[in-house]
Amino acid sequence: MGDARTIQEKVRAAGVVGAGGAGFPTHVKFASKAEIFLVNGAECEPLLKVDQQLAEKYADLLIRGLHLGMQATGAREGVIALKAKYGPAVAALTPRLQGNMRIHILRDVYPAGDEVITIWMATGRRVPPAALPLDVGVIVNNVQTLINVARAVDEDMPVTLRTLTVTGAVRRPVTVTVPIGTAFGELLELAGGATIPDPVYIAGGPMMGSLLGDLSEPVTKGSGGIIALPKTHILIRRRTQPQQVQLRIARAVCEQCRLCTELCPRHMIGHELPPHLIVRSINYNNIGNPSVLLSALTCSECAVCEAWACPVDISPKRLNQALKAEFRSQGARYTGSLRDADPMTPHRLVPISRLISRLNIGAYNRKAPLEENEYRPQRAALKLRQHIGAPAVPVVQAGEIVESGQLVADIPEGALGARVHASIAGRVEAIDANAIHLSAI
Ligand code: SF4
Ligand code: SF4
Repeated sequence: MGDARTIQEKVRAAGVVGAGGAGFPTHVKFASKAEIFLVNGAECEPLLKVDQQLAEKYADLLIRGLHLGMQATGAREGVIALKAKYGPAVAALTPRLQGNMRIHILRDVYPAGDEVITIWMATGRRVPPAALPLDVGVIVNNVQTLINVARAVDEDMPVTLRTLTVTGAVRRPVTVTVPIGTAFGELLELAGGATIPDPVYIAGGPMMGSLLGDLSEPVTKGSGGIIALPKTHILIRRRTQPQQVQLRIARAVCEQCRLCTELCPRHMIGHELPPHLIVRSINYNNIGNPSVLLSALTCSECAVCEAWACPVDISPKRLNQALKAEFRSQGARYTGSLRDADPMTPHRLVPISRLISRLNIGAYNRKAPLEENEYRPQRAALKLRQHIGAPAVPVVQAGEIVESGQLVADIPEGALGARVHASIAGRVEAIDANAIHLSAI
């Protein structure tokens, strides 16, 4: 199938974006040239079981997507990073590998799926702080993204479906494929409903996911899962603690033990990012080296400092999130360089089994088998921004009848963005500033 330009155009037309959560428009990535094309199949967030199952079931599509990605970017090597415990995926992919592709088995540690860490583990290359993987000759896509690429190029199929895990305190944990725009609340029914009174929900994984305040919120192209938990669970208590309380705790009890810095994965591989000094600066009204504060912009929000390192329950991650928002609104940039890596890094990444125990989620670490049937909702709310960049611009009107797969919102002229397609056949009920609302007919 065609040349690099054709692949890029078909991927753009289909609205493919990074399915790992960040949502970077894939056609823009494919416009670059790279030496190594890396498939991030780490799926290191405990409880989520999406990519490991898709890689097995759709091994042909994944290899095809990797081949197309390599063709578009001129990459000479394709590397699929997986974990040994994803044995069925490794077994399905191994006989299909082409001559210039290999599988790299990652250790079962967190955050092996942070792309900076994945690149280091799978290729030995270190991405400098505030730089892109491309700066070290690597392009990264996750499993579901490349399956979408294969379908876009070979079948002209737009991205209208999302596979995600529904787990936690539910009757029957399951991994389902649903039309984008399906309400999260409907997914819970597919898992048999919650098993506890007053559950609270996390959208995404237990480490990096965010609280889901409203079950009518729709699934997007980047949704990885939904986890039901008791409201007293530590993961919920941390997320519901007000920022002011966090600051007070940091001021009162930070003992400057440095554990958050010594165990920060970004710091370990040679980024400046020193969370203990950021906490100290904030505790003294932001007095400190400006570069230290600005380095918060390079925080991946992996939550190792919060959930694993800090002995007194401070969350440097949340302080970094607040700083990042402030710096971004000011247009500030971080410019520090790459330092030597900590030789202890391989020994300090967090074993997943111990993380599960520390997070107190062992009881929820159950299988979530991939459901064969595709769910058909009565309604879908298609967010205009499911990606990095400008929101898509509606090209349909309220009252219009649309087919599944029809383009409903396009990339604004000259902007970074991604197209949005109808995920169900139906009527456009309403269009507001955030979404196009469809109902099935
Ligand atoms: S969340 Fe914490 S551990 Fe993770 S990169 Fe940021 S500062 Fe480092
Ligand atoms: S680990 Fe906690 S107590 Fe230690 S320096 Fe970091 S924030 Fe302070």
